[in-house]
Amino acid sequence: MNITFIGAGAMGGLFGYFLAKSGQNIFLMDIWEDHVNAINSRGIRVEFNGKTSWIDIPASSNMQDTRKSDLVIIFVKSTQTKQAAVQALNCLNDDGLVLTLQNGMGNADKISQIVDPDRVIAGTTSHGATILGPGLIRHAGAGPTLIGMWSGKNNTALATIKKIFCTAGIDTRIEDNIHLIVWKKLIINVGINAVTALTGIKNGKIIDTPPTGELVRMVVKEACDVALAYGMNLPDDMADQVFTIATATGPNRSSMGQDIDHHRQTEIDAINGAIVNLAQKKGIPVPVNQTLTALVQTLQTNYK
Ligand code: NAD
Repeated sequence: MNITFIGAGAMGGLFGYFLAKSGQNIFLMDIWEDHVNAINSRGIRVEFNGKTSWIDIPASSNMQDTRKSDLVIIFVKSTQTKQAAVQALNCLNDDGLVLTLQNGMGNADKISQIVDPDRVIAGTTSHGATILGPGLIRHAGAGPTLIGMWSGKNNTALATIKKIFCTAGIDTRIEDNIHLIVWKKLIINVGINAVTALTGIKNGKIIDTPPTGELVRMVVKEACDVALAYGMNLPDDMADQVFTIATATGPNRSSMGQDIDHHRQTEIDAINGAIVNLAQKKGIPVPVNQTLTALVQTLQTNYK
């Protein structure tokens, strides 16, 4: 299958590596020139438990340099989704599909405004990765990848994509209610990201510090109330699920925390900010999410 990645950072690079290793025809597009140059000269390198493996994959930072693709995978940060969707449109075969496994709410909707909505696949992945430098990625953890048609209309190509992913070692399942899955992942990020980003703590400290745990419970409760208003009946124990994930990823700094530490724009608008926007449309007060969103926005607009 011809597969183009738009955004070949930590996650795009990792998934590109897995799929290229299993024989798929991969093309990586990324605006970061040093990274693209490193990939083209030394291949994409991925560190697994301290051992580095690599594979040659063609890459380009010229967004006009498209290859017609059966599948375009968007793995930019949510702030860049719209631009990436425009680029995806230029790469798609007549019956090609676009997949987003990005975090946050709103990515699949933005893509669906640019690409035929019946060709948009959304989902989540529990794989984790970090960029170590140009051309070099560290695989930080594995877990299931869940995919489904965002419009809800079945597409037989979904089964083919699942098979290709599984063959590449990416444990993938098709979900009928992908909206619920994306909401669940959103709530996990809502609970962990802004709180850790603002306080400088690692994920595990959420549980060690009782007032922080209480704050997380409040932010998650608000988000679950908003989800319910949109017909998403999430389990009552979502806060406990957040704590379980914070424990499992205890030594890690959340992605939003890393973005704040490195003075980069965060995905706050697609995470806690999305809860605030969706809540406003239904007249639901979400003061804790609103406060966290405003604080992260203040930090990221005033980097020195
Ligand atoms: P990243 O910053 O490592 O990679 C994003 C890449 O997109 C960068 O290399 C950047 O140069 C590139 N880019 C930006 N704008 C572009 C454009 N217009 N066209 C082409 N390339 C562009 O980010 P990441 O960690 O790979 O995360 C990507 C998405 O996946 C985010 O939504 C994130 O929340 C989600 N996610 C990340 C992880 C993780 O462990 N890193 C896990 C699950 C989901």
